[in-house]
Amino acid sequence: MTTLSTSAILLRRIEFGDYDLIVSLFTLTQGKTSAIAKSAKKSVKRFPGVLEPFSRLNVVLAKGRGKGMPVLQEASLEDPFFRIREDIIKTAYASYWAELIYLWMAEGEPQAPLYRLTSHVLAELNRGETPVEALSILFQMRFLSLAGFRPNFDHCHACKTCLDQIRHASVVSDPSKGGIACPTCGSPTNGRLTISKGTLKQLIWTDTGDLERAARVRFTPTAISEGLKFLETFVPFHIGKSPKSLKVLRAIRHSINGRKNHDAA
Ligand SMILES: [Zn+2]
Repeated sequence: MTTLSTSAILLRRIEFGDYDLIVSLFTLTQGKTSAIAKSAKKSVKRFPGVLEPFSRLNVVLAKGRGKGMPVLQEASLEDPFFRIREDIIKTAYASYWAELIYLWMAEGEPQAPLYRLTSHVLAELNRGETPVEALSILFQMRFLSLAGFRPNFDHCHACKTCLDQIRHASVVSDPSKGGIACPTCGSPTNGRLTISKGTLKQLIWTDTGDLERAARVRFTPTAISEGLKFLETFVPFHIGKSPKSLKVLRAIRHSINGRKNHDAA
């Protein structure tokens, strides 16, 4: 039997039988790990209110010699990030980020820079001083870079004209080519979107320099709208899976925006 003590973010939990939970953890030292939390459903004493989605924990995992799932022996809160779970839109964004990590990561491969990024955006989401949309752009841009899918905004993928030399205000995104096309080489159909050069510059800033500074990028409303549309197409394309939580996020965002427009009218 070996034990491991590490910081971890709780990505998801599912009920297992009448008493237990299976938790998927993003651990700092071992990457993604699933573990069984015995009696977690029945006994509040064992894990009192700590196994909540997006919480940052310190966990002790025990693993036998066989192929069995590690057992969660102890879990204590480093930060509950409880304000995320009190807000439906914050919960929807955090669920989407957690699912992207869950879908992309392999078990047992440490991803310390991605752990720091996730911890940072969850803390900011919980604090509530940065707009949620800006955090989602920051997370997805940096996730793409760390996962090796950084979009190429330098030039048109077909004719190689540099972004600054393209004589139009907008270009066309092309996830299948990993970047953008000039309006002569590409047209906005089949998942390809029109995106302004101004938006691309703001997206590039979020992926440059330190996190604190990048989180202070002030997006224009156009950049928020175009940036989210672009990333929510580009990221699922490159991880090769469509996150269920993205559908939920879009539906919630749609109903909230609909209500705002109704109130303003
Ligand atoms: Zn071109």
